[in-house]
Amino acid sequence: MLLNRSDAVSLAKGLEGRYKDAKYYLNFKTPVDLLVAAILSAQTHDEVVNAVTPALFAKYRAAADYARADPEELIGYIRRVSFAGTKAKNVISTCKALEERYGGKVPKTMEELVELPGIGRKTANTILINAYGIVVGIPVDTWVIRLSQRLGLSANTKPEAIEADLMALLPKEYWHNFAYVLKRHGKELCKDVPVCSKCPVDRICPKNGVKKRL
Ligand code: SF4
Repeated sequence: MLLNRSDAVSLAKGLEGRYKDAKYYLNFKTPVDLLVAAILSAQTHDEVVNAVTPALFAKYRAAADYARADPEELIGYIRRVSFAGTKAKNVISTCKALEERYGGKVPKTMEELVELPGIGRKTANTILINAYGIVVGIPVDTWVIRLSQRLGLSANTKPEAIEADLMALLPKEYWHNFAYVLKRHGKELCKDVPVCSKCPVDRICPKNGVKKRL
């Protein structure tokens, strides 16, 4: 079952109320830091990314530093993240593109960001929202994909279609933080066996696909 707009807004409001301190989870100081951390975060726990980035960001301070990096040396800083070799190559090629096209700056539009190697809409939304405060969409990560269907916000499985469904249902004021609220909710209550009895949106949520709950 899919929620109508009014129930979807009530659900988003209820979850935001419970997770008032939900926010983006990777540490960064500059837009380049954020872009690099986002590339490293694929299929890697946030804690691991946050553990390697202080030394990495101290060594490589700008896109030019990554663009000129020796791949083996860079891998040495990120060895703990999964697929370190591939990610090191991606970081170097993306930062080379930043140097060549944008003078080493991270661009501020979705269109420009998704043209960079290895950057899709999720990462582009993440950068725009968290580095620049520009909201043009909703980052759709694995938590958003899983919970959007369960909570009746989308019947789609492809990230871009889910994002479009969420943008149609929710007013823009919810877009910047919704992914981070859903992530907290997925970790704390809406787990594989969800704790619906403690959930603030128990009465609205259709619980699609839920077979067992607490
Ligand atoms: S915990 Fe239960 S009621 Fe709450 S969002 Fe998840 S499935 Fe729905």
